[in-house]
Amino acid sequence: HLDSYFENSKCAYIELNGANIPKQLIEDALKTRVEDIDHDSCEAGDEDAFFVADLGEVYRQHMRWKLNLPRVRPFYAVKCNPDPQVIRLLGELGTGFDCASKAEIEQVLKMDIEPERIIYAQPCKTNSYVRYAASQGVKQMTFDNADELYKMKKLYPDAELFLRISTDDSSSLCRLSLKFGATLDTTDELLALAKELQLNVVGVSFHVGSGASDPLAFLKAVQDARMVFDQAAAHGFSLHTLDVGGGFCSETFEEMAAALSAALDEYIPGHIRIIGEPGRYYVASAFTLACHVIARRTISDPPSTEQSHMLYLNDGLYGNFSSIMFDHQNPIAQVLRSGRQFCFDTIASRESRGGTEYSIWGPTCDGIDRITESIRFDHTLDIGDWLYFENMGAYTKCSATRFNGFSDAHDVIYVASEPGAKALLGMK
Ligand code: PLP
Repeated sequence: HLDSYFENSKCAYIELNGANIPKQLIEDALKTRVEDIDHDSCEAGDEDAFFVADLGEVYRQHMRWKLNLPRVRPFYAVKCNPDPQVIRLLGELGTGFDCASKAEIEQVLKMDIEPERIIYAQPCKTNSYVRYAASQGVKQMTFDNADELYKMKKLYPDAELFLRISTDDSSSLCRLSLKFGATLDTTDELLALAKELQLNVVGVSFHVGSGASDPLAFLKAVQDARMVFDQAAAHGFSLHTLDVGGGFCSETFEEMAAALSAALDEYIPGHIRIIGEPGRYYVASAFTLACHVIARRTISDPPSTEQSHMLYLNDGLYGNFSSIMFDHQNPIAQVLRSGRQFCFDTIASRESRGGTEYSIWGPTCDGIDRITESIRFDHTLDIGDWLYFENMGAYTKCSATRFNGFSDAHDVIYVASEPGAKALLGMK
């Protein structure tokens, strides 16, 4: 299927390194939406920030995954972006889903995904959520400590358990092993306890940290997982699955996938099923966010005579730019509309140090609500103009708040730059 996809594809713009995302569709969607707003008389909220999501990009990322990690079945990490169309598309493409809570399990089940395609990948689970998972037949779940094993014995003795081990995640953007994962000096005891409690341990899982950048982290984690497989065998378990977690980024995917594949081939026998829990990889580049300039403050800097401006947008750190705080991101503003002109400013056009300096702020009362400390644009920006930010699909909308009464439910306009994605979703 993959070969025919690449050979027969009529989409000249497919570039597997993700460098050539079809921008025209996204730009048209941004422009049409902004043109539709009557800025002089619209209702409150009509000019709210909004997303354009290219589901074709999610589709391409899936093909890229299959090409580079054919042994690993992805279970998309819903927490990263629980967008219903993304889940629907991935469901059609046959992925599984990593859910962290009852609400995420429920959302996926409602889309007619079979319970076997879900892993409740949260080592410290809420009792009532475990009961819910049991009632729905969602069996796969992770654990990393003895208390959780007693919980499982009481609430769900038939669950299919994955022992999550800790990793060296020091090279990642978001360290997860500070909080979760059994250290290797505890795994033997945990397996002994699981055996004593007659629980069903079926696999090992790890996560090298979200936004990981060191391919050696995968090698070490796979080696450690192999050791735990051997320990489990000594306790009489016959583990059948390794879950290699998430941590993949579009920018370094091929390098990380090559390191992971080589480690899997060396340490994990071919009959072992391998799954992964990618989140960011699938959605980061698929979402573009457009924001409206709601206010401007002009700063005159006496020593230099240069005038700069503070721009206030209708979205900020307490909204979709929560990724700046929680995900250590640095979203780059581009000009969508200046005055009555649509510009689609490119980063390249801003590389000269000319133009005017701006700082960019969110709408709330808080001084930390700053998106960009300093950026220069050739365009003059004023109240009523629009900016846009690419790569806003991961850990953005899902962690937005309603602080100061601003909306956390921004519209998403869907486009699909891949015929395959359109066909699967029945889009025109
Ligand atoms: N799996 C688990 C258990 C996680 O906690 C996370 C992220 O926090 C993910 C998967 C997804 O990670 P990423 O978005 O880096 O692929």
